[in-house]
Amino acid sequence: MRLRGGRGGFKIRLIIGAVIILFALFKYYSNREVNPYTGKKQSIGLSAEEEIALGLKSAPQMAAQHGGLYPSQEAQDLVDRVGTKLVNSSVAKETPYRFDFHLLRDPQTINAFALPGGQIFITYALYSKLENEDQLAGVLGHEIGHVVGRHSAERIANQGLTQGIISGVLVGGGEGTGQMAAMIGNVINMKYGRGDELESDDLGVKFMMDAGYQPEEMIGVMEILKAAAGPNRVPEFQSTHPDPENRKEEILKSIEKYRNGG
Ligand SMILES: [Zn+2]
Repeated sequence: MRLRGGRGGFKIRLIIGAVIILFALFKYYSNREVNPYTGKKQSIGLSAEEEIALGLKSAPQMAAQHGGLYPSQEAQDLVDRVGTKLVNSSVAKETPYRFDFHLLRDPQTINAFALPGGQIFITYALYSKLENEDQLAGVLGHEIGHVVGRHSAERIANQGLTQGIISGVLVGGGEGTGQMAAMIGNVINMKYGRGDELESDDLGVKFMMDAGYQPEEMIGVMEILKAAAGPNRVPEFQSTHPDPENRKEEILKSIEKYRNGG
């Protein structure tokens, strides 16, 4: 077959585009597995060891971005004690992950976040707004949920799929389709973001109850986040994620579900 412009070239381009998309889909679906701790089916491209290594490697940089550790051993110990209690009383203990809890100095950004594999952080800005130990357990429980739910690893796999589809559409469709492909990609990733947050809230409630904390205090955490919206917007807890009001409703449903033995 001679390669020319016009129809022949168009056809070849379409085939190559389709192959790229099929390959991305194949890779995504062949990595599908059931998370034994949440029961959720998900695509994961990383092993637990790789997740732990990735988290440990990024931890110093993440801490540095928030001014390093908060200089009070007493406060660090409290965060560590509450986090460890949540892990040891729940299914998190059975996972291969190594949990570490860090209180960061940042007095401005109201935030908490988890790296894959178990490195968990809360800023002093959020810590100082919390009214009791149960609320601290709520924040840390939510973050432990992200680790146990393997959300970062899942997002990496999702991005691989999204990139594959975008490349396929770009190659197959030529100019003009790039913007549409990027838009589709954004929608896919945003949907996963919302789902991750709701699953982490649900797991957080479960972990709080397992450890003997009052899960209703998670509602107080949502109030704090809602009040903090505005200039101190919270990247992890708010941006691409459900409104705190919606989250409150779902949290109340989770509490009822687990109280009834669900
Ligand atoms: Zn979250």
